[in-house]
Amino acid sequence: MEKKDISKMLRRELILELHKARAENTKKEELIQARSHLVSLRNQVQEEKRKCEELEQKLAIQDKDLQPFIDRENQNLLAKLEKIYEGNKCSFCKLKFHSETHRRAILKCGHVFGEMCIHTYLILHKNCPVCDFPAVLWDVRIIIAGENLCTANYFSS
Ligand SMILES: [Zn+2]
Ligand SMILES: [Zn+2]
Repeated sequence: MEKKDISKMLRRELILELHKARAENTKKEELIQARSHLVSLRNQVQEEKRKCEELEQKLAIQDKDLQPFIDRENQNLLAKLEKIYEGNKCSFCKLKFHSETHRRAILKCGHVFGEMCIHTYLILHKNCPVCDFPAVLWDVRIIIAGENLCTANYFSS
């Protein structure tokens, strides 16, 4: 073989070697990029988890702050219910109204009693037993309304 041919062969081998090295480097770069992408994804996940924990803590604090308010509202509602319940009872006999002889009956002053109770009372008296406003048997009017009628205001005024 001539010296010229040998140098030609060597050159070709070197070029091949260079191409191989380049291809390997490219592969390594791709790997590095993929890894750094994974790292950034993992960091994002951790950040979101941290935010989630922070929000959960805030929610817990808000719940604690709200509890006294909720308790107070519950008490107010219970008091209102109690008042409605009391208002739906006859102030004579303390029994609930019912559809036969103990229907709701109202006087001119606005006070409400069981029908029979106020009838019996007005046979002997000429006034409302709650506020003393003049009243006679003819003043009694029957209220036809649902069971949940709130008469609490009549009693508290
Ligand atoms: Zn009654
Ligand atoms: Zn009255």
